[in-house]
Amino acid sequence: MVARELLPLAACSECRAPIVWGQAADGTKVPLNARRAATYRILTKHASHVEIEKDEEPAFISHFLTCSKPERFSRGRRAVGDPAPDQPAS
Ligand SMILES: [Zn+2]
Repeated sequence: MVARELLPLAACSECRAPIVWGQAADGTKVPLNARRAATYRILTKHASHVEIEKDEEPAFISHFLTCSKPERFSRGRRAVGDPAPDQPAS
């Protein structure tokens, strides 16, 4: 039996899907789908298909790719629920 992984879960402000906030070494924060997915790398490209190899471990996918309300996101606009929001002066 595989032990359950404890992650700091949050929710997308637009679609309410469970997410995990990832932070890269440069400080960039990315909303990630809480559920990881199998990923594949391309080995060889052909005219009709690509030869692939499945990565050993499932990976986190950017929530921007799967959000059901992606039109609500735009460059420079964060999703509500960011763990460290900066409030602009109004
Ligand atoms: Zn969403």
